[in-house]
Amino acid sequence: MDKEKLAYFKSLLLDKREEVLERIERLREVTMESNYSDSYGNHSGYAYHMADQGTDAMEREKSFLFLSREEKYHKQIHQALQRIELGEFGVCRVCDEEIDAKRLEIVPTARTCVPCKISESKRYGR
Ligand SMILES: [Zn+2]
Repeated sequence: MDKEKLAYFKSLLLDKREEVLERIERLREVTMESNYSDSYGNHSGYAYHMADQGTDAMEREKSFLFLSREEKYHKQIHQALQRIELGEFGVCRVCDEEIDAKRLEIVPTARTCVPCKISESKRYGR
């Protein structure tokens, strides 16, 4: 892959990393806010309080789920940026061929080319 393309994907990944970090920060706030309202409670009616707690727990669970997903994605972006530095970016880890740039544009964290991805999905039944 030529330098120009690498620079392009690098800025793409840096943009994505910023987006992900913003989402992570927001989700951390949400999960922390729920903890806050849990420890200090709210003194409105009992039924309302129970319902509120239920929603809170669900919201928090969802936020934790999103948070772990975003953190995983953030790690993948970080690794893709490392591969750029090492000159390994855009090379399929299975067959060592260059990954199609169109695929990388959609999934810049991709580590396998399309044919390998397909045969892997078949093998693992996913
Ligand atoms: Zn491949």
